[in-house]
Amino acid sequence: MGATTFALTGNVVTMSAAPNARVVYVENGKIAGVGDDAYAAELQRNGVTIHDMGGRTILPGFIDPHVHFAQYAAGTHRGIDCRVPACKTIADVLDALRTGLNAGRTVGDWLIGYGNLFFDQKIAERRLPTRLELDSVSRTTPIVLHCGGHVSVLNTPALALAGVERFITGGEGLWGSPVVHLDDAGQPTGVVAEIDGLLPIPESSVEELSRFYSGTFRSDFLAHGVTSIGEMAESARSVEALDAAVADGSLDGRIALYAMAPSMLPVAAACDWAAGFSSRSGPERVWARGVKVFADGGYSARNAASLDDYSRDHSPRPGYRGKLNLSRGALMEAIRTARHKNVQIAIHTNGTRAQREAIEAILAVGDAHGHPPVRIEHLGNVLDSVEEIASWRAANVIPVMQPGFLHNFIGDYLPMLFPATGSTGRLPLRTVLHEGVSPVISSDITLGGEPGATNPLHTIWSAVSRRSYWGNHIEPEESISVAQALRLHTIEAAKVIGLDHVAGSLETGKAADMVVLDRDPHTVPEAELKGIRVERTYVNGVLAYSGGEEA
Ligand SMILES: [Zn+2]
Repeated sequence: MGATTFALTGNVVTMSAAPNARVVYVENGKIAGVGDDAYAAELQRNGVTIHDMGGRTILPGFIDPHVHFAQYAAGTHRGIDCRVPACKTIADVLDALRTGLNAGRTVGDWLIGYGNLFFDQKIAERRLPTRLELDSVSRTTPIVLHCGGHVSVLNTPALALAGVERFITGGEGLWGSPVVHLDDAGQPTGVVAEIDGLLPIPESSVEELSRFYSGTFRSDFLAHGVTSIGEMAESARSVEALDAAVADGSLDGRIALYAMAPSMLPVAAACDWAAGFSSRSGPERVWARGVKVFADGGYSARNAASLDDYSRDHSPRPGYRGKLNLSRGALMEAIRTARHKNVQIAIHTNGTRAQREAIEAILAVGDAHGHPPVRIEHLGNVLDSVEEIASWRAANVIPVMQPGFLHNFIGDYLPMLFPATGSTGRLPLRTVLHEGVSPVISSDITLGGEPGATNPLHTIWSAVSRRSYWGNHIEPEESISVAQALRLHTIEAAKVIGLDHVAGSLETGKAADMVVLDRDPHTVPEAELKGIRVERTYVNGVLAYSGGEEA
């Protein structure tokens, strides 16, 4: 018997049609049987090594179907952490940057800092730092302070290098329509949005990136029981480095790739890339699942396209409702091209207007049920009315929702942005499930995510407890059960990234991707969900992480 032949006994939650069990038998990395105590006794009589997990809970490895892993991992390694609550004030942020600069933590010439999403609301002054404040750290070193995936603040040298004038005159952004904030004199304030990938910051080498990725996957994913991710890929280099890390065995995980358009390639070229991709690691470890396009931008940039007006304090002009980034025709063309190339398309839609546009584009293309479902990222994070959901069914879409955003910003800040409508329809998970639509849940981790945001049990806790950053209880009637939330982060997520023939449930023939938890999420008090500890994570039957006491 090879080293990856053994059995685990404990409280086995299968996520399959079969009932929960007492033992998982693993042979050469694959699940060779799942059964009761009698089956465990038989395995033991046959000389199989049994690892008794006692009363601990064994689940399929978690699957996070929407992450910006490479951006998060490289950004965390290259950047200076300026997040609240470690930094409380803008003075703290400037101190952190100064300390980083003095310690020589530049990347090429650049100094990179990162705050949280909705940094302007979490920092004591309730505003972003200014260009001039960043200039007080250095007037010669270009400085960028990333505030979530959409918004950044640049100092004067960084503004000059970024060439922001091209965006004022209509140049294309990457994650949504570019924004360059101007002061009353028409000068850039330093705040820019949706152009991070266009800043001329030197890239790390493939070897360096592979090292960042392996370290972060272990510390922030395997340590939380995540064995597979759906990666929103921004560059060919990041893909090369991910594949290298998996191929050489330093990153133990499975990665479904989505080429982001236009960050990585224009839409048609991205579809071609996904259709023709092959990895060094093999199609069960690193594969191209599809492409991702942006129908709008982010709320943090006030760039999500909403059906409702933004509040006067948060809009450039009365009646402002955010920006659509793609025309109906461009969306339809992207959907047709992806279908033609037989790759999945994921459409980013933060605001309710962008969501409606995406659905209507799919319906206009037609024959939605004759083709693989379209993923709509963030669909249902905000719901205008329950009647909308009928059109989701007609369009055969999979909403990819982020319950962690209730905590991160939707709970507290949507009512601020949309006084008329922002207090209802936030992550209505129970309603979505009740209406017969099966969403999946993800962290959507980006640089500046809250500590612990990559932990699926944090996401599941958010779906169940619905607490905001400032502790408010958000539309508690939309809470779902732990059992429901676990499915959306395992088997349902596996289907979305095309992995359900390999992982997502504990059943014979699938890979032994498993996580051992110190307590059963079904029975712990709600407040303790995100405190559940991962003791072991297995990928392909190999112990990829061990953090607890041995049983
Ligand atoms: Zn995202």
